[in-house]
Amino acid sequence: MNPQPATRNQERVTSNPEQVKDYEKPVETVAPYKEIIEVIKTNGGEAFKRCYQCGLCDSVCPWNRVTTFSMRKIVREATFGLTEIESEDIWRCTTCGRCPQRCPRDVRQIESGVALRRIATEYGVFPTSVKPVRTASASLVGEGNPLSEERKNRALWAEGLSVKTFTEGMEILYFPGCYLSYDPRLKKVARATAGILNKAGVDYGILGPEENCCGESIRKTGDEKLFRRLAKENIKSFIDHGVKKILVSSPHCYHTFKNEYPEFMVNFEIVHLSQYLFELIHQGRLELSREYGKKVTYHDPCYLGRHNGIFDEPREVLKKVPGLELTEMPDSRKDSLCCGGGGGRIWMETQKGERFSELRLEQAMRVGAEVLVTACPYCITMLEDSRLTLDVTEKIDVKDITEIIQEVIE
Ligand code: SF4
Ligand code: SF4
Repeated sequence: MNPQPATRNQERVTSNPEQVKDYEKPVETVAPYKEIIEVIKTNGGEAFKRCYQCGLCDSVCPWNRVTTFSMRKIVREATFGLTEIESEDIWRCTTCGRCPQRCPRDVRQIESGVALRRIATEYGVFPTSVKPVRTASASLVGEGNPLSEERKNRALWAEGLSVKTFTEGMEILYFPGCYLSYDPRLKKVARATAGILNKAGVDYGILGPEENCCGESIRKTGDEKLFRRLAKENIKSFIDHGVKKILVSSPHCYHTFKNEYPEFMVNFEIVHLSQYLFELIHQGRLELSREYGKKVTYHDPCYLGRHNGIFDEPREVLKKVPGLELTEMPDSRKDSLCCGGGGGRIWMETQKGERFSELRLEQAMRVGAEVLVTACPYCITMLEDSRLTLDVTEKIDVKDITEIIQEVIE
């Protein structure tokens, strides 16, 4: 049980001697639980009560491939006000979207689970594995990115690539996001993207230091206030610069710009890189001229595929690459196996042996792929990490789709 709301309740009750007497009666011991149920409800967890404990959520949850975890149990405890806010379990969900697809009672496990995290965030209760979220959050407040990097360095990745600052009237704003702006591995993806856009003659620009984290993941950790602040600052920059269409590399930016920023009464046209590549190739603006004679498999990022229905464009782009042999893994398209990095898990500790990305790499190697290709910075981070821990760097490469396209247009 969350001790803090209960303590608040007891303080309120003990201030009145009559109520002290009532509180001591066994029947009144339900009062703290009732209050917790209310706290959960006001934080957005009302749908919990619709659950009828069928357990379908647990049967599809990727955690049950590596350890024991029960969303059904979390839902049951929340319904009765018995949630242990200090436990690791409420932080496990990667918001992969598999169980909401299966739930017959529309319990909205993601939104309801975030409600529990909001309570933990409000009280500052973080188990050890979750503590790195506090560092990410402080960096987001100070510098607009979760990586403890300086805001003024946000456009350094683009040095020497003739990338312009966005001005009104340009065809599209390119929004690389935090990981592509700062992470050494992912800066290669940003540079590949700029190379492709230049080659296709796209009239685009970036906002550089005026770009903020999109805020999607910090929202999933329960920090609604920080999400709203980041979102409002981004929206102001977009409006001030006359932005209408935004090209993103991260499915997390895609998801929040497209589905969550409209909560602020704005609507920008959002395009993911995989969709834009598809358009450029079909419009004849990008010619794939070189051979890529490798066996490749595509990993669907949860926030591109399951959450937003983009399954075909990345595959169609890969099929256009001369010499590339595309093969499918089990758990693909709407049943894709999560990499483990969503829901803010990218900043949390996951023990070796409990990382879904290890299973995914093994699946890719089992279908004989030499390259595991995807279209998300979190997936790349998790999969590259597992490539090292599994010691398979010689056996398989992990690439973003833009890196393959860059290789065949040069
Ligand atoms: S699938 Fe839905 S109704 Fe069934 S146990 Fe899970 S949350 Fe409850
Ligand atoms: S959204 Fe995914 S990770 Fe979260 S409980 Fe459901 S199946 Fe498990």
